[in-house]
Amino acid sequence: MSAMYARKFVALVAITIAITAAVVILHELGHFAIATSEGCQAKITLLDADMQTYTTVACRPTQAIELGGLLFTVPFGVLLLAFGRKYSMIALGFNLAVSWSDFALISTSAAYALAAAGLLMIIFGENMIVNSLIPIDAPRAAEIASSD
Ligand SMILES: [Zn+2]
Repeated sequence: MSAMYARKFVALVAITIAITAAVVILHELGHFAIATSEGCQAKITLLDADMQTYTTVACRPTQAIELGGLLFTVPFGVLLLAFGRKYSMIALGFNLAVSWSDFALISTSAAYALAAAGLLMIIFGENMIVNSLIPIDAPRAAEIASSD
């Protein structure tokens, strides 16, 4: 029984890592694409010595470049709806969470609201995945429901 839970835990971690890695790459590609479309040279750093991921631009960042990361990733999150709301929730939530610093230049309160909404969506999505991986049997579910 515990081997089954270990496999499901590994599956949960693998799914989360795959989705978050895809979101980070798409987010940086969004900044890159908008910057280069505006005639600005850009460079993506996936991991530097401080384990940071970012896109540097050789021009003054416009709001379009700042928002490019967030907007470029939304279609991926919506596409994941085809595989389940839980995966989409994690992708869109992580997208909001990693975009907060882009919004800090526009509005600090919007940035915090975005980060908080993103974290809630991640928690909700992870909870949905755990519930789908570890189904509660009917007698246990009734016991839980009656204890409320
Ligand atoms: Zn960004």
